[in-house]
Amino acid sequence: MIVAHLPAGYIVSTLLFHRFKKYGVPRSVFLRAGLLGSIAPDLDMIYFYGFDHRAHPHHSYFSHFPSVWLLLLTLAILCFQHCRQKKLPLLALIFTCNGMLHMLLDYIASNIYWLAPFVNRPFALITVPSVYQDWWLNFLLHRSFALEILIVLWAAYLWRKQCMARSS
Ligand SMILES: [Zn+2]
Repeated sequence: MIVAHLPAGYIVSTLLFHRFKKYGVPRSVFLRAGLLGSIAPDLDMIYFYGFDHRAHPHHSYFSHFPSVWLLLLTLAILCFQHCRQKKLPLLALIFTCNGMLHMLLDYIASNIYWLAPFVNRPFALITVPSVYQDWWLNFLLHRSFALEILIVLWAAYLWRKQCMARSS
């Protein structure tokens, strides 16, 4: 997924905020935590380009292991359920929820190591053929990119709806 992680994080955070409004976390803080979580796995690109010199696919790093995000999400849920103070666990919950969403969205058209660290084998729902030299052009011109456009449009719709609700 190239452009839809942040919009997908916005959609999920916006839709879930209504459910958790009663815990007193401001909408802007909840959204920031959610948006950060939606792109957090891709922060491993800093290591990929800066230190690993593109030697391994960045989806093979632990930051892209669904098991890691599932563990973090489970811990966030447990903290939220059992801690008396709910605000911080709630931010952890939306952060890790969107981190897990990132795994699902990446899985659609690229390799995700679902069983890592136990099995070192990647899985992808759709294989995007390498037709063009620039990797991003292969994704941009593949039919799976239509889903990204739909996510971006949905997020734009929600954002506009929020803006109109605030101005009225
Ligand atoms: Zn990713």
